[in-house]
Amino acid sequence: MKSNAPLSDLAARAAAFTAERDWAQFHDPKSLILALTGEVGELAELFQWAAPSGEGVSTTRAGEEMADVLIYLLHLANALDLDLGAAVTAKMDANDARFAVTDVRSTAPRKA
Ligand SMILES: [Mg+2]
Repeated sequence: MKSNAPLSDLAARAAAFTAERDWAQFHDPKSLILALTGEVGELAELFQWAAPSGEGVSTTRAGEEMADVLIYLLHLANALDLDLGAAVTAKMDANDARFAVTDVRSTAPRKA
């Protein structure tokens, strides 16, 4: 698979992985969210005592944990029959509209 595979291809691959192993029975949303949270914890652990810049943290290990997070997000999206790419695009469109460059450039976002 290409390194720049579209999210839809990755979601299809995750679905095939699950189907081939007959694991859909274990991929209920609650279980997937708990697994996702665990992977976020593994990613956070890499940075736990590092400098704020992340200097010294292995980018290989960070990439592995970030991949685990995305894979569980894809499994969750599949379990919910949700197009994650469309959801991300819609949210980014909303963020573009909410945080207009002319209004927020070089300023920290504030709670609305
Ligand atoms: Mg992991």
